[in-house]
Amino acid sequence: MSAAPVAGAQGQPAGFAVYVHVPFCGRRCTYCDFPIVVGMDAADRSRYMDAVVAEWAREDLPPGPITSVYFGGGTPSLADPRDVGRVLEALAARAAIPAAAEVTLEANPGTVTASRLADYRQAGINRVSLGVQAAQSHHLQRLHREHDVAAAHRAVRQLRRARFDNISVDAIYGLPDQTLAEWRETIQCLTSWEPEHVSLYALQVEEGTPLARSVGRGTLALPGEDAVGDMADLAETALPAMGYRRYELSNFSRPGRESQHNRAYWRHHPYIGVGAGAHSFSGPAGARRWWNGRHVRAYMRDTLAGRDPTAGEEQLSTAQLAGEAVWLGLRETAGVSLPAFAERFGISLEEAFPGVLGPLEAAHLLRRTPDTIHLTRRGMAVGNQVFTRFLTATLP
Ligand code: SF4
Repeated sequence: MSAAPVAGAQGQPAGFAVYVHVPFCGRRCTYCDFPIVVGMDAADRSRYMDAVVAEWAREDLPPGPITSVYFGGGTPSLADPRDVGRVLEALAARAAIPAAAEVTLEANPGTVTASRLADYRQAGINRVSLGVQAAQSHHLQRLHREHDVAAAHRAVRQLRRARFDNISVDAIYGLPDQTLAEWRETIQCLTSWEPEHVSLYALQVEEGTPLARSVGRGTLALPGEDAVGDMADLAETALPAMGYRRYELSNFSRPGRESQHNRAYWRHHPYIGVGAGAHSFSGPAGARRWWNGRHVRAYMRDTLAGRDPTAGEEQLSTAQLAGEAVWLGLRETAGVSLPAFAERFGISLEEAFPGVLGPLEAAHLLRRTPDTIHLTRRGMAVGNQVFTRFLTATLP
């Protein structure tokens, strides 16, 4: 796997990625503001997948094969494996899915069984992303997750028995009352299962969620900024010591096990999103982004009636594309290739963003080599501050 720096669409394989949004969950986690439905029965869930197949049939597809597929949610592991197989068959009927393409299913450890996992594998899933989130039951209960850590460990063992050789695990830091020792324990627990990929996210308190209300009322206390910074630092040193390379702000992997699908986003490759609330991007050539409405029942009703579920679209200007190419490229540790940027946009990055690089370098947030720019360790800790500088700049 190349760790070459990028400028958005550089190094682009022919083809496009596909995202399938699966918006049902067994219960709502306290921090979640995703467009999901709780309590859909099996027949409804199957009907939702009918809607996905119907939407796919009417999509205008970019040329080339499907480079990766990602069933995200929601809780895709609540979908019947036969429905997942049906969707994959529908995808393959309109665009080739090479045998090496990454086909991921997000799974909640509380929803899987050995036979179900074997069925997903049989259906064509070759990578599973397991939402573990914490190794302490009191944190999982407080987040209203459906599983405990024993269920997560069991799920990993079942995945291995089902011959999954590409497993990703997710965890969250900065949880209410979480200590550094607990976060260390979570990292140790997750890595002891030897997954190929680890994603570690800082908790985001989204407005309108039960978590935000509890924090607002003072019934839950979040760790302070310094404590969260210490947790990020711990992840950054502990994971590499265990053989995981940080290749993106929140993502670590064994060599060659970087997420192909997420890389498609970070590198401005075309992608087609199907399902309620899913976004699509034509790629730099058309520079169009469009998205479906978030309301799940309306999506099903419209799509199954043969109507277009698209709720909005935007045409990206060259300046927007350039800003996105830099902030998305900076997410990857390899950074942004200056020659590739100049070739793609016909202007050097320094000229495109006058007065931006110097202050970021002086603040030790960004490092420049003759051919690249990339975030420093400090820059990674405050990535959003850096990205904003590029997204608010305008090309001359
Ligand atoms: S499992 Fe994920 S999508 Fe579902 S409620 Fe929890 S955080 Fe939201």
